[in-house]
Amino acid sequence: MSERDKDTAMPDWSAYRGVLIFVEQRGGRAKSVSWQLLGEGKKLADKLEVPLKAVVIGHDVERLAQEAVCYGADTVYLCDAPELKEYRTRPYSRVMLRLIEDAKPEIVLFGATATGRDLAGAIATHLPTGLTADTTELDVEPHPSRLLLASRPAFSEKMMATILCKQYRPQMATARAGVFQALPRDASRQGEIVRIECPLKEEDIATQVLDFLEEAGGVNLEEAEIIVAGGRGLGGPEAFRMLEALADALGGVVGASRAAVDAGWIKHEHQVGQTGQTVRPKLYFAIGISGAVQHTVGMSNAETIVAINRDENAPIFRIAHYGIVGDLFKIVPAITEQVKARRG
Ligand code: FAD
Repeated sequence: MSERDKDTAMPDWSAYRGVLIFVEQRGGRAKSVSWQLLGEGKKLADKLEVPLKAVVIGHDVERLAQEAVCYGADTVYLCDAPELKEYRTRPYSRVMLRLIEDAKPEIVLFGATATGRDLAGAIATHLPTGLTADTTELDVEPHPSRLLLASRPAFSEKMMATILCKQYRPQMATARAGVFQALPRDASRQGEIVRIECPLKEEDIATQVLDFLEEAGGVNLEEAEIIVAGGRGLGGPEAFRMLEALADALGGVVGASRAAVDAGWIKHEHQVGQTGQTVRPKLYFAIGISGAVQHTVGMSNAETIVAINRDENAPIFRIAHYGIVGDLFKIVPAITEQVKARRG
């Protein structure tokens, strides 16, 4: 074997099999990225001809283990203990490290959320293994290499890089919410639920969570089913009140393009796109937004897109399911009136 072959030769990883998804929850509610990852994980597991596994960690979360089965998991590891009620790095990472040691999955996926990023980083450092953050495409090479092809934007988001982890197992990645599609929920699916022990007692944990303070006026674009987004065409911050009225009437939330955020008209947490949130709502209004690729990459997976723009050649109309050409200052209040009238 040449020196170069020695460098690239992969160790024998045949003991590691299966794809494991971390099901993230807070207060017993799963983050939708968990179900989206199960949908994508199923494709990888089928290609590798291995079972799809999930892990649910928390307190009083047994129901979520069954939900994970409905969304595609064949086996769900459930670690349910009072010490795990709130996310804390040490107890959660200890549960995961022990599980990885016992179950030996070849791939482990997490949502690229604050929790997922923290947990995946802690585990990768401990094992140690590689971790690709913020992936937007996942694939696998079939047997014998069985390599995870984890792709993400690189070099100021100008190109896609595919990252491999040849020398360590498991292969780990975090993935953005809204990029992958969940399987339809199937209540008739059967799967195995395996209970695992929490390895720590409260006295072994140095940190305590005293309280959660929700940010006033905070927006959760990731989980929103209806988003009413505005761009530079709004001309200023006042026009966002008009969008809020439409969003309120529809039961949705307000999103924005980067141009509107950079102008200081609305906070960054509302930004949709490459450097904002990736969203997958049922209904997305793009109002006074031209449709630059850096915006559409974050919303093109919406089920229905309605664009309102006075320029009939605006690129947003190429991906919109419904397009309204005209002045947003006339059209938006008219739609809001109609929605309110129909809702009584
Ligand atoms: P514009 O392109 O100026 O479009 C305004 C639109 O409003 C026009 O189409 C106009 O016809 C219409 N309009 C004006 N007045 C009216 C009216 N009265 N009635 C109806 N229509 C009207 N952008 C994002 O959105 N999200 C990102 O995450 C993001 N990330 C980026 C990352 C990088 C590395 C780079 C280089 C750029 C990024 N951008 C992002 C910026 C992106 O390239 C565009 O500049 C931005 O999306 C444009 O915002 P806009 O559509 O609101 O503004």
